[in-house]
Amino acid sequence: MTPTIITNVKSYAIKPDRHNLLVVKVETNKGVSGLGCGTFQFRPLAVQTVVEEYLKPLLIGRDANQIEDIWQVMNVNSYWRNGPVTNNAISGVDMALWDIKAKLADMPLYQLLGGKARTAIPAYTHAVADNLDDLYKKIDQFLDEGYRHIRCQLGFYGGNPSNLQTPEQPLEGSYFDPDDYTETTLKMFAAIQEKYGHQFKMLHDVHERLQPNHAIRFAKACEPFNLFFLEDILPPNQNEWLAQLRSQTTTPIATGELFNNPMEWKELVRNRQIDYMRAHVSQIGGITPALKLAHFCEAMGIRIAWHTPSDISPVGLAVNTHLNIHLHNAAIQENIDVPENTQKLFGHIPAPKKGFFYPIERPGIGVTFNEELAEEFPVVYRPHEWTQSRIPDGTIVTP
Ligand code: MG
Repeated sequence: MTPTIITNVKSYAIKPDRHNLLVVKVETNKGVSGLGCGTFQFRPLAVQTVVEEYLKPLLIGRDANQIEDIWQVMNVNSYWRNGPVTNNAISGVDMALWDIKAKLADMPLYQLLGGKARTAIPAYTHAVADNLDDLYKKIDQFLDEGYRHIRCQLGFYGGNPSNLQTPEQPLEGSYFDPDDYTETTLKMFAAIQEKYGHQFKMLHDVHERLQPNHAIRFAKACEPFNLFFLEDILPPNQNEWLAQLRSQTTTPIATGELFNNPMEWKELVRNRQIDYMRAHVSQIGGITPALKLAHFCEAMGIRIAWHTPSDISPVGLAVNTHLNIHLHNAAIQENIDVPENTQKLFGHIPAPKKGFFYPIERPGIGVTFNEELAEEFPVVYRPHEWTQSRIPDGTIVTP
């Protein structure tokens, strides 16, 4: 195969709707270009700087066909590696290179990877409300739309405390009460089960809000509700506790959206301490490492549920869809409907139909991006209160 020379690397930090997104475009001498997602919505300019100042000079003139070598070069070139800023920058380029390769092959990405493992991947979405009546309305709507897997949450992560008692002059932050949260959530599961029976599978995200012993107690108490999975019951730095948790309960455990470094998942996967791997593809460095992680998980009987939140670009969303159609151990795809301005900026955005994402049949990743229109949506940084989460006495905890 003749070399496909990289002639330019561009990056776009944009805020079309609620979140900052980061899109990378790689251009080649064959007139074929690719798009990648490097979205780290809290630090978009840091990712953009890595792309523009460090990766671009490293990449121009290289052969875009050699994705594996280029990924390894980008990973070790900074010597210090595996952080969220560098990984997202690497991911933006890596996805673009896969996009280019699949376009040159005139195949959808999932075909280049090896073709379909299934007809379509089941989708789940988020039902969030402050009270049960409002939650039921959302669940009814999603059931009508065809979803049979719904993440159910009362209030924001950690719940809405009903009777918060804080010291005088509380510090700024987003407060929650862990005991109030678990009690309210168990009542929510019971009420939903009573009302809906087996019409759909519930999922729930703890968002690392519990102390280890409390987390084990909560996972055990969730058993009668037969959850599809319970997500991020602990922060990654406390994952060793999962050995104890799993000796005591069969509640399926999902985790991984915060992972950056293979050292964070190696032991967890090797020891089969989770049921679902939730890594965020751009956060671990793109498609190249995601394939390796997925195959490692497959060998250990762990299924894949890539993190697909609202702070992901449509390019990242499409990449997850291709991976989920191809990977034998993919289980489910998260979905949050893409908002209005993002719909204008990107073309051919995948969306679920009656609760399933179907294969994308366009060459490459399949998503287009309007570079001219991007100028209308400059990146805006705002301090996020929710990442300053506190328990009632004012202690800051993982958000
Ligand atoms: Mg999560």
